[in-house]
Amino acid sequence: MSGYAELSREELEALHGELLGRYEAFKAKGLRLDMSRGKPAADQFDLVSGLLDTVTSQSSTRAEDGADCRNYGDFDGIPECKKIFCDMLGVAPEELFVCGNSSLSVMYDAIGKMMLLGVRPGAKPWRYLDKVKFLCPAPGYDRHFAITELYGIEMIPIEMTPDGPDMDTVERLVGSDPSIKGIWCVPKYSNPQGITYSDETVRRFARMKTAADDFMIMWDNAYAVHDLYPDRRDTLLNILDECKKAGDPDRVMIFASTSKISYAGAGIAVFACSEAVMKRMKELLSFQTIGFDKLNMLRHARYFEDLDGVMRHMDKQAELLRPKFAAVLDAFDRELAGKGIAEWLAPNGGYFISLDVMDGCAGRVVRLCKEAGVVLTGAGATYPYKKDPRDRNIRVAPTYPTVPELEQAVELLCISVQLAAVEKLLA
Ligand code: PLP
Repeated sequence: MSGYAELSREELEALHGELLGRYEAFKAKGLRLDMSRGKPAADQFDLVSGLLDTVTSQSSTRAEDGADCRNYGDFDGIPECKKIFCDMLGVAPEELFVCGNSSLSVMYDAIGKMMLLGVRPGAKPWRYLDKVKFLCPAPGYDRHFAITELYGIEMIPIEMTPDGPDMDTVERLVGSDPSIKGIWCVPKYSNPQGITYSDETVRRFARMKTAADDFMIMWDNAYAVHDLYPDRRDTLLNILDECKKAGDPDRVMIFASTSKISYAGAGIAVFACSEAVMKRMKELLSFQTIGFDKLNMLRHARYFEDLDGVMRHMDKQAELLRPKFAAVLDAFDRELAGKGIAEWLAPNGGYFISLDVMDGCAGRVVRLCKEAGVVLTGAGATYPYKKDPRDRNIRVAPTYPTVPELEQAVELLCISVQLAAVEKLLA
């Protein structure tokens, strides 16, 4: 089929009638499906059901350093748990801190600390400044943008390329404006596009000249081990190592969690940074807590044993997720390819597929799907201030529904994308 833009008015009208018929038939089915968030499905949790049995009332609650995990102690986490994350992120034990159940809350807290108290050595808290700005590669993770918006930090969208954020623009802006204090990054299998930053991008982040001497890269490595294909694993250069080589190890904070490995919202979150930033973070955290949940750390460490154990588990998880990603991508290929009305990437990992529809149509597509019973992430959610300048990006979260549910939902999505495009061309 030729691109929609080449069709005559009569052809478009005939197509409109056909698509409307398919759409109404779908509506009559009374579907009820929520695909708005990237949640794991229950069968993923079933893969780790043994995790809950690793620390029982009969078993020892002692960590390998002898600490009783029922008690206070091991402020920065028990050693066996730290080891797994150090290996995952390529950092030393002194550079890693194991927190509670959510990396998002650690990021929220880190921004709060930078605003109120200062985190980088010698940094003036940002609350004393007239203006604080953050770069926000977009499409990106809505909850990152929500945190910066809450604190009144001005957000500047940065376009994404297949290699990561547009680094020419990033370098130009951070090099000239001292009120730009940081950037949000999801460097591996980015949310929502599934892009992994190239080695060159990571090096440029480490080396770029920043006008602000307390610039902070918020490196949210949420999908560090979330490969979909064991024979096609993206690799990410170690940002902390690169920053050390470039002479400014204090410019990055790395975040990760097991929310999409073990239990969403009941796993373990960590952050990693230079020893100097860690010293300050520990000092500040010591006001906040006497320690995080070491029993949960012990459960995780005993269950996974080491990074290989995590990788073996993630390969099993990928077996469950591959058919779901395939259901979406096959439908896109079948229904949308070659029509000049949509673009997407097939990611090697992560939790999402990002779909760009015809300019000005994303809001309409999301509404059409909602009216027929399928809730998608709101249009615009992937951009700062929820404003997608071209109203074209839709985040598809394929992990939670079953494959049959997903097939239905994606067919409806494809019909809606086509319908919205034809409406636009006829308008
Ligand atoms: N970071 C990214 C990029 C995410 O996509 C998500 C969840 O979807 C999170 C963080 C949330 O992680 P946590 O459950 O550890 O707070």
